[in-house]
Amino acid sequence: MPSVFSHAAVPLALTCIAGLRLIPPRLAVLAVACAALPDADVIGYHLGVSLGAPLGHRGITHSFAFAACVAAAGAALLARRLGARPAIVAAVLLASTASHGLLDTLTDGGHGVALLLPFSSERFFAPWRPIHVSPLDASRFFSERGLRIVASELRWIWLPAAVLGVGGALVRRALGARGGPKQPGPSPSPSRAASRRAGGRAVFTGARDRR
Ligand SMILES: [Zn+2]
Repeated sequence: MPSVFSHAAVPLALTCIAGLRLIPPRLAVLAVACAALPDADVIGYHLGVSLGAPLGHRGITHSFAFAACVAAAGAALLARRLGARPAIVAAVLLASTASHGLLDTLTDGGHGVALLLPFSSERFFAPWRPIHVSPLDASRFFSERGLRIVASELRWIWLPAAVLGVGGALVRRALGARGGPKQPGPSPSPSRAASRRAGGRAVFTGARDRR
């Protein structure tokens, strides 16, 4: 696995791209937790569960089916408390949880990832695996090998996530600024904040009309 911290890069990038109006802070925090959740299966590793078993490391908790269950449960039970629409909660939690298994397929060690459990027990690796695998035993992380792992995660996870997140945020803001003047303001002399709110509606309406 990439270290548990690096899985947070995906939900954080998503939040930067979509913005806090679509993904409120509480949903972003939950998405970060869900991105790390699949590695809860290391508990089984320490209890002696076989690595190749469905409940073993990179087993059922790393599957798309597990991500779908997490997303459905989050949308059904927490959408109101999170202050977001159930569909948004489901999409964000699905992407964040499923991204964990996909990132694990890019690592250069360990077992393959059972992405398709419970329908298939096949273990998958990506054809290109640039990320150094992180040890299951956390104490081995603090070594020269640990520094190499951090360097590979910065290069292959955090850097692309930062580029996508910042780039997406800039595009979103540019689209919002461009859509602003097309909407009539709420009063003859709208405040700057009111203009910005009107701009947000203009972009959303325009996007819907183009479909
Ligand atoms: Zn993992």
